[in-house]
Amino acid sequence: MGRRSGIVVMAVALLCASCATSQASRASTAAPTATVTTSPAPVTAPAVPDVADPPVVALPPPDFTSTISEITPDLAARMEPSWRPGCPVPLEDLRYVTVTHRDFAGEKVQGELVVHADAAEDVVTVFRALFDAGYPVRSMRLVDDFGASDDASMDADNTSAFNCRAITGGTGWSEHAYGRAIDVNPVENPYVRGSSVAPDAGREFADRPDSPGVIHADDDVVRAFAAVGWLWGGDWASPIDYQHFSASGR
Ligand SMILES: [Zn+2]
Repeated sequence: MGRRSGIVVMAVALLCASCATSQASRASTAAPTATVTTSPAPVTAPAVPDVADPPVVALPPPDFTSTISEITPDLAARMEPSWRPGCPVPLEDLRYVTVTHRDFAGEKVQGELVVHADAAEDVVTVFRALFDAGYPVRSMRLVDDFGASDDASMDADNTSAFNCRAITGGTGWSEHAYGRAIDVNPVENPYVRGSSVAPDAGREFADRPDSPGVIHADDDVVRAFAAVGWLWGGDWASPIDYQHFSASGR
């Protein structure tokens, strides 16, 4: 109490130093005293939350992630089995795409595909929808990991896109050679021509059982591709290519 009284006395004494001046000037000295303490606050206060807010909030990792990137020299070297000079699409027009998918145990896996640059965004859109639908994908690795052998990739139930190869059973370029076709879970969704089924392990799925990964007309998978304008080989008369989706419908 004693010290506080002393401060009051000192304050009064300081104020009285200006008592000699007029009432008007005393009012003007009081006003700045108030504004000095309040004026910096409005200037600095808005800036603090703008800067501080983003780092303070720790966002959970997103469920689905994707990347689209150009073909680097390292990737081009890896793609030696599937691409060579004379292929209908230059490496500059292809893109390396990664997307999150579920495996058959329900675990999240980051898969990889090579597709045409003009299809990359659509492909990400499709696999985001398939992830949201919980559709399982066995494996999604570049066909180069199988020596660019379509048979070996199918035997491994591997989902793949780009492969500079001829159409199955023909001589023209496959839509895969343009990076505008994707084969999805080839074992559960085999290629059927008459009595011949590829891959061999796909034979038990030729009669289209209601099993995980098996694609049916108008299901989540067919509709996800249809939403970006891609058509399903399961709708063909013969051969019937249940694994095959393409931008052209071929
Ligand atoms: Zn195909």
